[in-house]
Amino acid sequence: PLSLTDPVELHRICVCVRKRPLNKKEVTRKEIDVVTVPGKGVLLFHEPKQKVDLTKYLDNQLFHFDYSFDESSTNDLVYRFTAKPLVKTIFEGGRATCFAYGQTGSGKTHTMGGDFSGKAQDSSKGVYSLAAHDVFNLLQQRRYADMDLSPYVTFFEIYNGKVFDLLNKKTKLRVLEDEGQQVQVVGLQEVPVSSVDDVIRLIEKGSACRTSGQTFANTNSSRSHAVLQVILRHGKQLHGKFSLVDLAGNERGTDVSSNDRKTMVETAEINRSLLALKECIRSLGQNSEHIPFRMSKLTQVLRDSFIGENSRTCMVIGLGCYSPGPWEIAMISPGMNSCDYTLNTLRYADRYM
Ligand code: ADP
Ligand code: MG
Repeated sequence: PLSLTDPVELHRICVCVRKRPLNKKEVTRKEIDVVTVPGKGVLLFHEPKQKVDLTKYLDNQLFHFDYSFDESSTNDLVYRFTAKPLVKTIFEGGRATCFAYGQTGSGKTHTMGGDFSGKAQDSSKGVYSLAAHDVFNLLQQRRYADMDLSPYVTFFEIYNGKVFDLLNKKTKLRVLEDEGQQVQVVGLQEVPVSSVDDVIRLIEKGSACRTSGQTFANTNSSRSHAVLQVILRHGKQLHGKFSLVDLAGNERGTDVSSNDRKTMVETAEINRSLLALKECIRSLGQNSEHIPFRMSKLTQVLRDSFIGENSRTCMVIGLGCYSPGPWEIAMISPGMNSCDYTLNTLRYADRYM
């Protein structure tokens, strides 16, 4: 494992990659590892079977991130460097957002959900329950206990540009934007919670009704974005909000083995929303005034995450990165700032994950 120091003071956006270990099937199929995490925040691409020579890699084989986690990393470690530093933000009245991005099978749900049962080891618990745990810890600290904050949970999915409440029989919900440009999901259930176990029960309930498709190699491929929110209210007033998003798989249309129309529409919509997300994150990284959050339902619903003084975002890019097939390398020219890296990472992610 890498030796990591404490998380750096987070910028508005932090982008990380996580490489998952080969699974049994991949080992059996003799799939080949094409990425190596040679150090903190970097990722090296190499030819399948090429011996990794860290002194001789080409610049365009090296990708930069805020953090890179190798295949030995546990959920606990990934959490500590990504979502954990954001928990404080919602106590300070801000908006925190954590995305898991990657192709189906790359470990998004493993990272976010993990084994969320109350008995699971910290290392196998996912970001959802680890974050809930920290929220309840902070609620008890004296400096926050005085603020009289109450925690609530919402859990919904965005499928084909429509919002469904996972905690209320998958009711279809409308999204409204008022004159103050506040975005509201009308009728979304906000369930009061008083313990981590309460949150876990809601995650279990909601996860059971997520929309999945049958067309991909992984029969349970999630074709929807799932958004779990932990909300802090002071009386009726919204104080802070943590959105934890398990994004739909970013497969390309050409990866779809079926020509069925429903799947094609789904895929087009997923790509559209992931592109919108990329655009918003790019604008965020450039500190741009204009954030194009209306480009998709996903980014519209998460408007808070992109706008506002005190909003912080992290993205964990899952790498299911073993390939016997043809592969390419995205070019990264030297001297680019970290935002360009982020952009390239995402552009790259679009193409390869
Ligand atoms: P996704 O949600 O991106 O489609 P999953 O989280 O369902 O992917 O992961 C696919 C499979 O790989 C699951 O069986 C999961 O348990 C396993 N897996 C993913 N990441 C890891 C990891 N870091 N360590 C061990 N197994 C993992
Ligand atoms: Mg999943």
